[in-house]
Amino acid sequence: MKPLKWFYSFLKQYRALILLGLFLTTVISALSIVNPYLSGIIVDDVIQAGNYDLLPRLIICLLAVTLMTSALRFLYQLVFETASQGLLYDMRSTVYRKLLEEDFTFYNKKRTGDLMSRQTGDMEAIRHFMAYDIYAVYQNVLLFAFALLMIFTISTKLALCMLVVLPFTAIATFRQSKEVKPAFQRNRNCFSSLNAFVQENISGNRVVKAFAKEDYEKEKFRIENDRFKEAQIRGSRVWMKYVPIFEILSYALTVILMLYGGYMVILEEITMGDLVRVNGYLWMLNTPLRMAGWWVNDIQNFITSVEKIYSTYSEEPRVRTPRFSWNHGDTFAYPHEKLRGNVEFKNVSYSADGEDIVKDISFRVKAGQTVGIIGSTGSGKSTLMNLLCRFYDITSGEVLVDGRDVRQLDLYSLRDNIGMAMQDVFLFSDTIEGNIAYGRPDCSFDRVKKAAIMADANHFISALPEGYDTIVGERGVGLSGGQKQRISLARALLKDPAILILDDTTSAVDMETESYIQNQLKNIKQDCTVFIVAYRISSIRDADQILVMDKGHIIEHGTHDELVAAGGYYAKTFHNQYGEIPYDLMGKNAPESRTTLHQA
Ligand code: ATP
Ligand code: MG
Repeated sequence: MKPLKWFYSFLKQYRALILLGLFLTTVISALSIVNPYLSGIIVDDVIQAGNYDLLPRLIICLLAVTLMTSALRFLYQLVFETASQGLLYDMRSTVYRKLLEEDFTFYNKKRTGDLMSRQTGDMEAIRHFMAYDIYAVYQNVLLFAFALLMIFTISTKLALCMLVVLPFTAIATFRQSKEVKPAFQRNRNCFSSLNAFVQENISGNRVVKAFAKEDYEKEKFRIENDRFKEAQIRGSRVWMKYVPIFEILSYALTVILMLYGGYMVILEEITMGDLVRVNGYLWMLNTPLRMAGWWVNDIQNFITSVEKIYSTYSEEPRVRTPRFSWNHGDTFAYPHEKLRGNVEFKNVSYSADGEDIVKDISFRVKAGQTVGIIGSTGSGKSTLMNLLCRFYDITSGEVLVDGRDVRQLDLYSLRDNIGMAMQDVFLFSDTIEGNIAYGRPDCSFDRVKKAAIMADANHFISALPEGYDTIVGERGVGLSGGQKQRISLARALLKDPAILILDDTTSAVDMETESYIQNQLKNIKQDCTVFIVAYRISSIRDADQILVMDKGHIIEHGTHDELVAAGGYYAKTFHNQYGEIPYDLMGKNAPESRTTLHQA
C-alpha cells in the first residue's frame, strides 16, 4: 500500500480540482438521464396522444440539455487535464530531485534505460489514469446507477430482469484483474529492458562499429524486441479473452429489453414511451459493462507504474549529509563554508561487495601541498580520491578535511570545495564555455578564458570556427581525448577549489603540454591542495609527497628524491621511464603484481 499512499501525497494538492471535476461529472451524468426521459414523453404525449403543441418546448429542452452537457464536458476535461499535468509535473520533479541525491552505489547498479522508463512510460501511465480513468470510471458508475434508478421507477420487474447480468460482469471483471496484473508487470519490465538496451547501444555505437558487431547487436535487439512483443501480445490476449464476454453481457441487456420489455408493452404493463425511455438508458448500462475490462487494465497499469516509480524513489542514498539535533531542531552538522584544504586519511579501509579495495591507508597533507599518487592499474588510486569526495563511505578509519570527518561535513559544501577532473571525462552537450563554467555558471567570460589558458585549452578552442560557443556533442563527441581532458581540467580549475583532484588528467596530452600545465598549476593559489593521480613520473615528480599504491595499499611514501633513493617500485618506474637507473638497483622491493608501471 505504500506506493499508493505515496501517490496520494501528490494527489492531495489537487483534491479541490479533482472534486470540482467529479462534481461536474455528477452534473453531466444527471443531465444524461433527461434526454431519454423527454424522448419517452415525445412518444407517449406527442406522437400517441397528439399533443403537438408540446413538441417545440420539448425540442428546445433537448437542445438546451445537449448544449449544456457539451459545455460541461469541455470544462471537466480541462479540470482533469490540468490536475493530471500538474500532478505529473510535481511527481517528475520529486523523482528527479531524488535521482540527483542518489549516490554512486545506486548508479553503479542501475541501468540508464530503466531509469529513463520510470520518467517516461511509467509517468505516462499515471497521467492517463489521472486524465481519463478517474472520471470515466466515476461517470460510468453514476450513469449505471442513475439509469437503473430510472428503470426501477418505470418498472421494478424489468429493472430486476436487467440486473441478472451484473453478477456475471462482476465475476469476469474480478478474474480479468487477477490475470492482467502479472501480464502488465512483465510488459513494463520488458519495456524497461528494451529501453535500456537501445540506450546502451546508442551510447556505445562507436564500440559496436569498431568491432563490426552490428549483426550481433541486431540479433540481441531482436531477442529484446521479441520479448517485448511477446509480453505485449500476452497482455493483450488477457483482455482480448474477456472482451467477447463483456460484449455478450452488454448485448444480453438489449435482448432482455426487446423480449421482456416488448412483452410488457403488449400486456400494457408499460407504455411504448417507457420502452423508448429504457432503450435510451440502455447505453448507460451497456458502457460500463463493455468498458469494465479496459478500466481494469488501465488501473492495473497505473498501479504497476506507481509501484515501479516508487521502488526507484524509495531507495535511500547511503551517502548523505548527517543531521544532528543541535540547539533547536535539526540543523546540518557544519554549514556551507570555505575549507582550507588540510587532508588526513587515518587507517582508512574501504570494501565493496565483500572485497577490500583499499586497506589501512594513512597519510596527512597540509593545505597548499601537492600530492602525487602513482601505482599499478586497479590499485585503488581513483577509489582514494572518491573517498575524499565522499562518493562512497569508508568501511573503517577516518577521512578528515580540516580536521573534521567528511561524514560530518555538509556534503554539498565538501564537494563545492573540491575541483575534480575525473579520469572518465564527461562533457555535457553544451557550448565549451558552458562546460568549463559548469561549476560556476555566473562567472565572467574572462575567468572561463583564464581557466582555459591555465589548462592549455585556449588556443585549440580559439581555433574552432565558433570558439567558446562551439557546441560539443554528447559526452564531448567531436573533440580529441586530450582536448576533452583539458576542458575537464579547466572546469575543475575554474571552481577555484580548496582541493584540486586531477585523476589521470594529463594522460592523453603530450609531454610539452603537460609541462606547460604543470607550470600553470604552480601559479594557482598557494593554499590549494592538489592531488595528481598519474602513471607518468613527470606528472608528479615535483609533488611535496608521493604515494605509491599497489593492491589497495600504500607501499611507498615520500618525495621524489627519497623514493628514487629508496630503490623500490617508484625508482624502478622512474628508471623505466627515464632510463637512468640500472635495473639491479630496484632489487626485491618491486611488487609482484606488475614488473613496471610503464608496461602496465
Ligand atoms: P586505474 O589506474 O586503472 O585508474 P585505479 O588505481 O584508479 O586504477 P580504482 O578505480 O581505484 O583503481 O579501482 C580499484 C579496484 O576497486 C579495482 O579492482 C576495481 O575493480 C575496484 N572497484 C572500483 N570501484 C568499485 C566499486 N564501486 N565496486 C566494486 N569494486 C570497485
Ligand atoms: Mg583510476
